[in-house]
Amino acid sequence: MPASMTEDIVIGGVSIPPGKRKRVGIQVAKLYDYTEMTIPVEVVRGKKDGPVLFVSAAIHGDEINGIEAIKRLLARKTILSGIRGTLIAVPIINVFGFHQIVRYLPDRRDLNRCFPGSKLGSLGAQIAHIFMREIVEKCTHGIDLHTGPIHRTNLPQIRASTDDPETERLALAFGVPVVLNSNLRDGSLRQAAADKDIRMLLFEGGEALRYEEKVIRSAMRGIISIMNAIGMIDQEKINIRQRKKEVFVARSSYWIRAPHSGSLRIRKGLGAMVNKDEVLGIISDTFGQGKIEVRARETGVVIGMNNLPLINSGDALFHIATFEDSKAVEEQVEFFDETLE
Ligand SMILES: [Zn+2]
Repeated sequence: MPASMTEDIVIGGVSIPPGKRKRVGIQVAKLYDYTEMTIPVEVVRGKKDGPVLFVSAAIHGDEINGIEAIKRLLARKTILSGIRGTLIAVPIINVFGFHQIVRYLPDRRDLNRCFPGSKLGSLGAQIAHIFMREIVEKCTHGIDLHTGPIHRTNLPQIRASTDDPETERLALAFGVPVVLNSNLRDGSLRQAAADKDIRMLLFEGGEALRYEEKVIRSAMRGIISIMNAIGMIDQEKINIRQRKKEVFVARSSYWIRAPHSGSLRIRKGLGAMVNKDEVLGIISDTFGQGKIEVRARETGVVIGMNNLPLINSGDALFHIATFEDSKAVEEQVEFFDETLE
């Protein structure tokens, strides 16, 4: 249960009373040389009662855009000094992967498939278990920040279970143009938190191992919008130009895979609308011979794509979301992009 304002929140054995801001480390494991590994956490508690929101990143150790977004959020002193409730910032969950600049854990497991975890399970299961107990179970809301994997990039988007009306309201309030409804039973942090009745959003944007300015800005502004939407801050405190933003929930999405190995020249980029059977890219050999067109299966908008031109047959190339009105989505994506300048 989330702590009420009359009591301290205890994280990593450290007590944080209302009105205080503290940095703590949650012990998760030791390295071979017995060096202590801790998940760094910053807790910002308002003086007034309110929601408890965790914002996390780098559950995949090489997805660093979210780390920078959280860093910038924590620098917004005016906003954070007057919040109602509590913000728990966790910029790096997978500290092991982060130090190695890789997505996974040392045993090659995906930490975001190890939830809710267990006390005596694999390293990933143990970290997941500790994270649930120390952070998630003390919260009312959560936002987990991701990027595409290495060599793959995503249009800024929210993934959430829009079947729940309140989660849908928050998914729209985040403010990025595209929302994907997903209810995967996949061992992810999002699923484990939702199972504890914590309202969860997952943000996807950009690619691994990069700081991408517009992605970072859209994530940071989205978090502030959510803090506003759940009553942690007042609209007047937000020093962001609030322009009319439209948000679209995708009907479905699909991947186009490479029909052949070769090198790929891309015709359609992120955010572009594509018609059924339209050419997305052309695969050819080193001499430009043996051209094979890669085409869209259904009309939609490109929300994710492969960035590495050298491809094998079967590689996932384009992630396309379908909408009631794809043209409107394309226009909104362009407009949203301008607001980030
Ligand atoms: Zn990820």
